[in-house]
Amino acid sequence: MQNKKAANKLKIDTVIKNLGKRGMEGHFCETKEEAVELILSMIPDKTIVSWGGSATVNTLGVKEKLAERDLEIIDPYSTTDFAESIERRRKGLLSDYYLMSTNALTMDGELVNIDGTSNRVAALCFGPKKVLMIVGANKLAIGLDDAIARAKLNAAVPNNVRLKRNNPCTITGTCNNCLSKDCICCNIVTTRYCSIPSRIQVILVNEELGY
Ligand code: SF4
Repeated sequence: MQNKKAANKLKIDTVIKNLGKRGMEGHFCETKEEAVELILSMIPDKTIVSWGGSATVNTLGVKEKLAERDLEIIDPYSTTDFAESIERRRKGLLSDYYLMSTNALTMDGELVNIDGTSNRVAALCFGPKKVLMIVGANKLAIGLDDAIARAKLNAAVPNNVRLKRNNPCTITGTCNNCLSKDCICCNIVTTRYCSIPSRIQVILVNEELGY
């Protein structure tokens, strides 16, 4: 366990260096508690905060802490009214701070994300002033092929199972590149560079977080 943590620290240091080449800023946190403190310190009061669907963000408990602050929160997931949820996802694109994770992150600093409704990848590409991305060490991948494979097998398939989607992967456990009307893999987005310096802040945590 200790060796794995030490190896992950080395990997994360390399990724942070490579994110810098790509106009993104990386931060190292040993634990998720440290990550929560960092996120809270990055978000000033009286700003607008939103987020994408993310098992990682849910695990942190940071939403509850943000709710206690003097912030305008746009939470698309706290309503069961689908039309209202879509409207909040649209409004979230104009937030000041947007919280999300990534489906995979290459050692060279490229982000890979698969999205169905695609509000999350839309926010990543353009809209919110800052994107705060929280990433567990389990999301690291050697290169782009590995990252896309990881995003499909270890993120899209479990998400299909969680959402009880009627797609082939919920039967086979692997991605069949379906074109089903229930498909949650509409867009596969690779982020290779951020032209607004440090708009994307990547908080790397030396723990397993999300999937
Ligand atoms: S089978 Fe379809 S829904 Fe399932 S992971 Fe592959 S593309 Fe996505």
